[in-house]
Amino acid sequence: MSQTLAPTLGEATIQELREAVRGAVFAPGDEGYEDASRVWNGEHDDRSPAIVVQCTGAADVIAAVGFARSNDLSIAVRGGGHSIAGFSSVDDGIVIDLGRMNAVRVDPAARRATVGGGAVWGDVDHETQAYGLATTGGLVSSTGVAGFTLGGGIGWTMRKFGLACDNLVAADVVTADGRLVHTSETENPDLLWALRGGGGNFGIVTQFEFTLHPLPSPVYAGLMFYPAETAPELLRAFRDWSETAPDEITGLVNLTTAPPLPVIPEQWHGKKVAVFVAVSTGPLEEGDTLVAPFRKLGEPIADLLGPMPYTMMQSLLDPLWPKGIHAYFKACNLNGLDDATIERFCTMHLETPGPQCEIHIHQMGGAVGRVPADGTAFSERSMPYVMNAVTGWHEADQDVAQSHADWARAAVAAAGDAATGRAYVNFLSEAGAARSAYGEEKYARLAALKTQYDPTNVFRLNQNIAPE
Ligand code: FAD
Repeated sequence: MSQTLAPTLGEATIQELREAVRGAVFAPGDEGYEDASRVWNGEHDDRSPAIVVQCTGAADVIAAVGFARSNDLSIAVRGGGHSIAGFSSVDDGIVIDLGRMNAVRVDPAARRATVGGGAVWGDVDHETQAYGLATTGGLVSSTGVAGFTLGGGIGWTMRKFGLACDNLVAADVVTADGRLVHTSETENPDLLWALRGGGGNFGIVTQFEFTLHPLPSPVYAGLMFYPAETAPELLRAFRDWSETAPDEITGLVNLTTAPPLPVIPEQWHGKKVAVFVAVSTGPLEEGDTLVAPFRKLGEPIADLLGPMPYTMMQSLLDPLWPKGIHAYFKACNLNGLDDATIERFCTMHLETPGPQCEIHIHQMGGAVGRVPADGTAFSERSMPYVMNAVTGWHEADQDVAQSHADWARAAVAAAGDAATGRAYVNFLSEAGAARSAYGEEKYARLAALKTQYDPTNVFRLNQNIAPE
């Protein structure tokens, strides 16, 4: 029973929602409300929603949207709760949480998976790998399929299989007016186009359908750690290698601080390191040849590249990014990695305000670049790299938060002329970035579709595309 009433809602009103849905409804004062209100990013974990509704199916989602509209409540939609910008929680509004809708069903003959709107990538990888299949998912297994895919979806298999949004072939969507709409290449194809990169602007996806690809486990994957002094050489080697690397392999360089893991020699714990990370979807026996240039860079601190279960690789970084950590990310797309840009990134690497300040350089290209620029809503495809300045810290402290955000902004500014001017919406901590992230032309097309599907901007807690 609710002891404290939400500011604008009486108990009788809340009771209407409790009766309308099969899932759980939490209001302030309810047992479980605090837990139900928590999101991944500790920086945004101080919000007090008027209601959290944990839906169990599309009917609950429709009821929740109707309830929100009747009571004039701001809607925060939650899939996995990993929004860096804190979009999946809201003060005094309603959180429509799909976390319980995490069922995954694989059709191995058709190579398709249907995935609930609240599943996380660990759920998908677990089920698809049972059949030796996979689709592009996130680098951390607790990231939600929904927010990830709707923003684009950068993952280890993208250069072979495409972005997550490229593998999205159909979806069921609850629209702002409470309809359940199916979209595919043949049904409401304009909506599918918008869902492939346009974020949560167009409705609440209750079910996704993805194309799957053969990916027998183990895969050739892992990390190589080098001292920070090797970072410029490593990045130059990474650039040269990226130009001809086959689509089978997707690589990343991470300029970071060595975590205290047993696989890293103890004397390196807490020291600045440059890490090459890669996953190959190709034959195991070709793995060593694919990464050979990185083994010529001198003695690594640790060489952990080799055969590894795919699901292990997909959850390897989980312990470093637990729920409740405070985080700020800022990113930009790069048109190249010239020596001067490399030097500036390496300087930023040595000037971090804390140990979890990382510069990620994602290798793009391959299947990502072959989709026509206007084929999906995803912002830009021709860039060879995406740079992400990722920061995390553990204490709720304004000064610490400020120093991390300042560093991430400076790291992105260090890209200088190497930045294309566009960015990947899912790697941005600041709201209001849609227009610059998508560019005018794509933004205009998205705004027209937003006007069609959500004319009063019911779904606005996202990188918002304003209706015209
Ligand atoms: P949520 O916070 O639940 O939602 C994020 C946004 O999606 C909100 O705007 C929300 O309204 C909308 N949304 C959520 N569910 C639905 C739904 N069912 N229907 C419609 N809209 C919905 N990105 C990458 O591309 N590659 C990575 O490897 C990667 N790694 C990450 C690792 C960590 C630890 C974190 C925190 C983030 C990472 N990201 C990565 C970024 C990630 O893609 C975004 O944070 C994404 O929004 C997370 O999705 P979610 O469902 O967990 O988020």
